[in-house]
Amino acid sequence: MNTKVAIIGAGPGGVFCSIYLKRFGIDSIVFEKKEIGGLIRYANLIENFPFLKPISGPNFCDMIKKEAESNKIRVIFETVKKINFKNKFVITTGKNEYFSDYLILATGTEPVIIKEAKNIKKDMLSFWENFFYIKNKEVGIIGGGDVAFDNAVNLSKRKNKVTIIYRGLRCLNILKERCAKDKNINLIGPAEIKKIIKKNGKYEIIFKQKNEEKKYSFDCVISACGRKEYYGGIKNIDKIISYRNLKEKFFLCGDVKNGRFRQAINSISDAMKIAMKIKELEYEGKS
Ligand SMILES: Cc1cc2nc3c(=O)[nH]c(=O)nc-3n(C[C@H](O)[C@H](O)[C@H](O)COP(=O)(O)OP(=O)(O)OC[C@H]3O[C@@H](n4cnc5c(N)ncnc54)[C@H](O)[C@@H]3O)c2cc1C
Repeated sequence: MNTKVAIIGAGPGGVFCSIYLKRFGIDSIVFEKKEIGGLIRYANLIENFPFLKPISGPNFCDMIKKEAESNKIRVIFETVKKINFKNKFVITTGKNEYFSDYLILATGTEPVIIKEAKNIKKDMLSFWENFFYIKNKEVGIIGGGDVAFDNAVNLSKRKNKVTIIYRGLRCLNILKERCAKDKNINLIGPAEIKKIIKKNGKYEIIFKQKNEEKKYSFDCVISACGRKEYYGGIKNIDKIISYRNLKEKFFLCGDVKNGRFRQAINSISDAMKIAMKIKELEYEGKS
């Protein structure tokens, strides 16, 4: 199948790339391996969008989905596995091959797992994947940023007992206040994680606080120690990123390139910039 623009990832960045391109009359396909909406689904409450009342992550994702449907953008639910470039981009999923003139990578991020937790990395990733099914559990969250505190409030709503263990506090005051008021949330810090051990189906976090070593046991442990760019696990993507002659054919959009400035609104702003750039290249004959 041929398209002018192939977009990988149907988070806010990828979906709005396709919507803005459509407004310019440019055809695109979005590939998504899970659901429309991306990472923001995990947000307890989104409060930083202009003109929008505070809204939960899942409801925000429903809005993105409706926007995608009403603009009739094409989303293909296949995981992109490999990309080559031979005059056109050749996009290989497990099922089909697609061809495009432009490629946009909007694949987001993946969680950073601290070295003390490397032995339970698989379990941590699975807790993150199953976040919405965690109910009535003892949950340990490692981290002191917005995501740790936002996750804690979200988990508390589903009757989990949550303990946040942090080294330093970097989160918004409003989130700190919400957690401090919540009876299901216990804050421990500053503390240094020493070890995490899996024992009898539970997870023991051993940490040091004020020179004293302590041990807490949890049903599951969530890592909220930052995230790093994720290139979709796609074969050959490093080559595509490094090819200088693809500079005006290949674009990174959103969290995958935004470093410390990872916010949905920045991903959407990237989407607009990239769509305008492609329009310029197409209509002004620069491509
Ligand atoms: C707990 C939490 C709370 C947050 N709260 C806010 C907030 O209040 N306000 C705000 O603005 N931002 C918030 N964010 C940040 C926001 O979620 C991100 O900035 C935003 O989702 C980034 O959008 P994106 O499109 O760049 O990437 P993502 O949303 O990460 O989307 C990437 C998409 O690519 C797909 N994908 C990856 N690889 C492949 C592949 N090989 N093939 C097919 N599909 C693939 C993924 O499945 C995913 O759907 C929050 C984040 C978290 C974790």
